[in-house]
Amino acid sequence: MATLKLNHLRKVYAGGVLAVEDFDMDIADGELIVLVGPSGCGKSTTLRMIAGLEGITEGKLYIDNKDVTNLASKDRDIAMVFQNYALYGNMSVYQNMGFSLMLRKEKPESIHKKVIAASKMLSLFEQLNKKPKALSGGQRQRVAMGRAIVRNPKVFLFDEPLSNLDAKLRSSMRREIKLLHHKLGATMIYVTHDQTEALTLADRIVVMSMGRVQQIGTPDQVYNNPNNMFVASFIGTPPTNFFAGRIEDGHFIGEGIDLKLSKAQLNLCKGYDEVILGIRPEHVLGLDGDTEINVELVEHLGSYSLLHGIIGQHHCVFKVRGWSDIQPNSLVKLKIDMDKVYFFNPADGQRLRGE
Ligand code: ADP
Repeated sequence: MATLKLNHLRKVYAGGVLAVEDFDMDIADGELIVLVGPSGCGKSTTLRMIAGLEGITEGKLYIDNKDVTNLASKDRDIAMVFQNYALYGNMSVYQNMGFSLMLRKEKPESIHKKVIAASKMLSLFEQLNKKPKALSGGQRQRVAMGRAIVRNPKVFLFDEPLSNLDAKLRSSMRREIKLLHHKLGATMIYVTHDQTEALTLADRIVVMSMGRVQQIGTPDQVYNNPNNMFVASFIGTPPTNFFAGRIEDGHFIGEGIDLKLSKAQLNLCKGYDEVILGIRPEHVLGLDGDTEINVELVEHLGSYSLLHGIIGQHHCVFKVRGWSDIQPNSLVKLKIDMDKVYFFNPADGQRLRGE
């Protein structure tokens, strides 16, 4: 187990592609960190720099306070689990799990002990003699994790490990990884483009966009207290609705929307002619308010329904509890939970937080 220090990491690929800029973070022993962001934002590059699979253009990387910036991957004592499990098809589960230890020339008794212990932890004990092709996708993914666990590495790195699995299996594997993290107490860094995985797994989430860190925080902080419009729209589903408007006579006024603001909110917006208001789809208190939405489509998802519609000329989506009987092409008056709305600076998308 280990601490990590990522000290202003930067990666420029040959050809001049700037993939990661100024990634700066301390990771505590035993933390589960999730790097999340859309495709191409630099999360795999960051993970690969930690793994030693990519060189670091600028900055330094420390594992347990030791500078490993220029250390070969094999000397960093990390283990990586990929989305394509890369199991050896001609070897049994037992052999797959013990292979790296065999290469290290560990004694067969020691390998045996570690493989048995890991297989029990991952519910693979009954499968040890099978070949990978006789296993389900979830079991194969567990073998890949087992291969990492037997090595008892300082840091576990996961690169989109669940993206090849179907939705149901993904959510059960998510639980397993979380439980595994509790059992092992190991430092883990996990890359995904899936905000649900980030929210459910992480101790802390790093939200990335275009090579830059947008916010580092607990799931609570990134969901409830986003730094900017990117985080507010990427974390939470469906994404936050944004409305451009101005402040007038104590109100936010945008196209088709007029909301009375509190003193604190007016203070936040002081000095801005225009602001952007962010309302999460779920922050609706009822249907007896005065924000009129022209509902175009209703999606029923069992415990809640999504109202897709138009306010002013702006497409937006809101969530209401239960199986809504609202019909398409009807006008509904939403009551917005004004304690939960956000304000952003239109110039740079940053959240207005006051002094
Ligand atoms: P993510 O994991 O978030 O999808 P990546 O870290 O893979 O993003 O990629 C970040 C950026 O670096 C992208 O613009 C990608 O095209 C570029 N990139 C990734 N790998 C290479 C490479 N080997 N050579 C050149 N550019 C690369």
